[in-house]
Amino acid sequence: MDVKTPDSLTYPFPTPPAPGETIEVAPGILWIRMPLPFRLNHVNIFLIDDGDGWTVLDAGIGNDTTRSLWEALVTGPLAGRRLTRLIVSHYHPDHIGLAGWLAQRFDLPLLMSQTSFLGCINISLSPGALDAQPYRDFYLRNGLDAKTTGIVTTQGHGYLKMVTPLPPIFNRIVAGDELCIGGRTFAVLSGDGHAPEQIMLYCAAEKLFLAADQVLAKISPNVSVWAVDPLGNPLGLYLRSLNALRRDLPTDTLVLPGHQLPFYGLHERSGELIAHHEHRCAAIEESCRTAPRSAADLVPVIFHHPLDPHQMSFAFSEVLAHVNYMVHEGRLIWTEPANGIARIVTP
Ligand SMILES: [Zn+2]
Ligand SMILES: [Zn+2]
Repeated sequence: MDVKTPDSLTYPFPTPPAPGETIEVAPGILWIRMPLPFRLNHVNIFLIDDGDGWTVLDAGIGNDTTRSLWEALVTGPLAGRRLTRLIVSHYHPDHIGLAGWLAQRFDLPLLMSQTSFLGCINISLSPGALDAQPYRDFYLRNGLDAKTTGIVTTQGHGYLKMVTPLPPIFNRIVAGDELCIGGRTFAVLSGDGHAPEQIMLYCAAEKLFLAADQVLAKISPNVSVWAVDPLGNPLGLYLRSLNALRRDLPTDTLVLPGHQLPFYGLHERSGELIAHHEHRCAAIEESCRTAPRSAADLVPVIFHHPLDPHQMSFAFSEVLAHVNYMVHEGRLIWTEPANGIARIVTP
């Protein structure tokens, strides 16, 4: 994720809740935070008044710290009202990690997109699946070194350390559905690019937008091509989603995101994210104008600091998202490989 510092947004709740505490961001909507053991050190979770209890949006990462914070919340600030159901926005471990445990511990129905459910189950069934020769070849062919290729193709094992097993049954929710939670009606939206079929919720009556990781105030969510879909265009899908949000939701919507602070300024922030990716595209295009480049060659064009192999694997996958997008748009074309390394140029 790349740090951005926009100043066009307003933050109605500038101080986030401490661990184990809640902040009411709208009548009957509570904001809580769970810590993450990463540079991005927290994830936001929202509780929505559901009559005699609370619907939970996202679970946090699957570790003991988050487990004990949930236990402390239900016996502390949430005491007296049960949890009613769990909605998971997408299959990344900071959001889905503790979902299996939470659903079982509090006997909650689990609502999520089919893609998220199957994506998580798929990794659980076969965590080493990406460490197969066609996937290794994909990274090596695009210029990634053997060490980084080894990291990126074995990430499934790391994922399972952060994710508790899902229950065998879920309730599928799909874009276009309406969800009644307490007295509110939420439109179910989905947006691709950061994660396939990521679920977001929008309450039009009160202009409340639970955005998950699609629109964050100060960072750009990771948008990556993976070896299983090597010609995929996640950046095109992400830009499509941002444009749809700008078109369909009013700008005075309160955005309740998966990380960082709630904010006003959805249209401005969507525009900044679109401009951020166009800026990266322009830099890649400029580099490919002077000579054919591999995807790995282009990483330093976008990421100017030294990267360790783990950071490199993410940087590479992000760069490839921009390359594939521009190939889809006709702004770049694949040219003849050199020493087995695929290369792109401007037409
Ligand atoms: Zn995510
Ligand atoms: Zn996240």
